[in-house]
Amino acid sequence: MTTTDVDADVIVVGAGPGGSATAYHLAKHGAQVLLLEKTEFPREKVCGDGLTPRAVKQLVDMGVDLSEDAGWLRNKGLRVIGGGMRLELPWPELAAYPGYGVTRTRMDFDDLLARRAVEAGAKLVVNTNVTGPVLDTAGRVVGVTAKTAEGEVTYRAPLVVSADGVSARFPLAMGIAKREDRPMGVAVRRYYRSAAKTNDDYLESWLELRSREGGDKLLPGYGWIFGMGDGRVNVGLGVLNSSTAYGKTNYRQLLLDWLATTPPEWGMNEEANADGPIGGAALPMGFNRTPHYTRGLLLVGDSGGMVNPFNGEGIAYAMESGAMAAEVMVQALARPEGPERERALAAYPQVLKDRFGGYYRLGGVFVKLIGNPQVMKLATRHGMPHPTLMRFVLKLLANLTDPRGGDAMDRIINGLSRVAPAV
Ligand SMILES: Cc1cc2nc3c(=O)[nH]c(=O)nc-3n(C[C@H](O)[C@H](O)[C@H](O)COP(=O)(O)OP(=O)(O)OC[C@H]3O[C@@H](n4cnc5c(N)ncnc54)[C@H](O)[C@@H]3O)c2cc1C
Repeated sequence: MTTTDVDADVIVVGAGPGGSATAYHLAKHGAQVLLLEKTEFPREKVCGDGLTPRAVKQLVDMGVDLSEDAGWLRNKGLRVIGGGMRLELPWPELAAYPGYGVTRTRMDFDDLLARRAVEAGAKLVVNTNVTGPVLDTAGRVVGVTAKTAEGEVTYRAPLVVSADGVSARFPLAMGIAKREDRPMGVAVRRYYRSAAKTNDDYLESWLELRSREGGDKLLPGYGWIFGMGDGRVNVGLGVLNSSTAYGKTNYRQLLLDWLATTPPEWGMNEEANADGPIGGAALPMGFNRTPHYTRGLLLVGDSGGMVNPFNGEGIAYAMESGAMAAEVMVQALARPEGPERERALAAYPQVLKDRFGGYYRLGGVFVKLIGNPQVMKLATRHGMPHPTLMRFVLKLLANLTDPRGGDAMDRIINGLSRVAPAV
């Protein structure tokens, strides 16, 4: 497909899960892909490292070896702790998704996915910081400029994918700003050595965080403890922008206050067991950056604000949007430049909306509701004692239903997502 005056059919900016999935699927379809990454692998990325069956499906689609020998720790479901109760909810049995999730440090995970993209035929160039778009006279992106150790370089391609994460410098440089009407979160995490919890076969989610500082006090936010299977746990918490504590709290201190209340045998209230500092970053949710396609540029993953507002999961959505973008681009590249190609590209925001728009709209309502601690307290107290209701909640929060058929719960969730106007 490549012509001589361009470096590739598609330039992908950023080799996180979104960028690598995009590059993998494009390359598998024979497109020439240039995957530009400002860091080099392996490298850390602040994250919870938890993957639900939705993400596992994407890994299977990329041909990743998910055996335990290959270093994955599998989980069977979600353990929810709140309202004085502890409930283990297995992942639902579905036709569309596998019945297990996994954990893996982002240090390994991102490296592994970038390698899959390269194995499929993408060209990965690391230590290359993309500084901005190259535009034609009509304002359409036709390439990128980048800083490398050798100096400034320019790469050209008829299509560019922005998979540069929450910072989203590339779309910003194209004038695509963050939307303030969409939910946002912030999360912090740290690794601790914990023999007691490292091999946990459930992802653990805390609906209420407490502190002993100044008596027993309810803290804002929601917590997680994920076993990594390597002697460590990834433990962290997130706060939503619907909470009054958002932006006005020392999140790192919040984490330490909560961890001080955990059982001593877990090892998380001892500084000596910590492995590295507390890291934090924002969670851009519910399509908080649009349009997802304009003037030769497609947004994938956090760059397009695709974190699930119900549970803060972003990896599955980054990979899924990457696969969807690739499918659209392959069709577009097979058409002549001009209106015919544009028609194919205009489908990308539409397919995203069809798949996630209604669900994200519901998520926006959910975020507003649980921002009120009273609503959350009532929901926890009344919901937790009912396992069937909680199984429904798990399907809703993790976006795990069968799109066709499925059980009564699936039909209710799919029905609600369909009637909610897509955002
Ligand atoms: C504390 C925390 C916990 C989280 N926990 C979970 C979890 O347990 N499960 C889950 O699914 N999600 C979780 N998330 C969300 C998840 O981390 C993101 O949604 C996910 O990483 C998005 O993937 P991405 O590929 O879109 O972007 P990123 O993973 O951010 O990747 C972007 C890539 O682009 C590169 N880049 C950026 N700018 C440039 C540039 N100018 N030039 C070249 N390269 C560039 C970066 O170096 C990076 O490699 C968490 C987030 C946080 C902050």
